[in-house]
Amino acid sequence: MATFLERLQEIFWGEESAGGNGMAPALRVKVECDQCGEMICTRIEKVYELQEQFELPEDEENNHSSPASGYLLAKELLGTECPHLICLTMHFAADKELTEHSVEGGKLVEVQDSD
Ligand SMILES: [Zn+2]
Repeated sequence: MATFLERLQEIFWGEESAGGNGMAPALRVKVECDQCGEMICTRIEKVYELQEQFELPEDEENNHSSPASGYLLAKELLGTECPHLICLTMHFAADKELTEHSVEGGKLVEVQDSD
């Protein structure tokens, strides 16, 4: 069924993406609720929402003097039509490329770089 929502998504999720090089300042993420199938879109500002991760130094002298080894995003999402909270967790490499993710209560449908 080609719904209004799908056409709306074509507008928001069109081919205007900045490409997959991980350098765009934001991500658009779409998740689907396990309970009711509602699509929830969110925008993630990498600068503000990604938490720097440091590998535990074997040598304490390196403590926090090295650059981040990766980034973590943890975000709770709530749809407009359903009361189920979805917990999104994403892991990024040092170049902010998405490496793994988990979604509690839903599943990840789409991730795009965004200006
Ligand atoms: Zn739901």
